[in-house]
Amino acid sequence: MATKTAENFKCPKCGSGRTKPLSIAIAGGTRRRNTVGISRRSMWGSTSTYKSDLIAGLPQRPSNGGAYFLMFLGGCGLLLALFVASNEKGAEGFAAGVGVVSLLLLVGGIGAKKRPDLLATAQASWDKRWMCARCGHQWET
Ligand SMILES: [Zn+2]
Repeated sequence: MATKTAENFKCPKCGSGRTKPLSIAIAGGTRRRNTVGISRRSMWGSTSTYKSDLIAGLPQRPSNGGAYFLMFLGGCGLLLALFVASNEKGAEGFAAGVGVVSLLLLVGGIGAKKRPDLLATAQASWDKRWMCARCGHQWET
């Protein structure tokens, strides 16, 4: 695999030599920009990525990042619910609401988390994916 370069693969669909691994296509077509958003309720900072339409349509490398993020949000929410329930009188309804939503996030995150072996398999197959810059065809080498 390490000895193969872009020139070694021709698109199996259209025969174009303008092919590259998905990982390189995405890394080369993605720009990061830090933004700060403000709404009436909160202010947040985020890292947005801007991609070309072609790159945006490509599958991202499988990861458990989203699942861990959900679990993290759920954990924080539960702490907030506990905090509100024990410190604010008359806010039990609010605390219960936050608690239920947080629990759903936590369970959702655990459910979305891929098993390590399945994740490794999905990542390995993603790493082998190539795409054609001419017709957009994707295949695994
Ligand atoms: Zn092609």
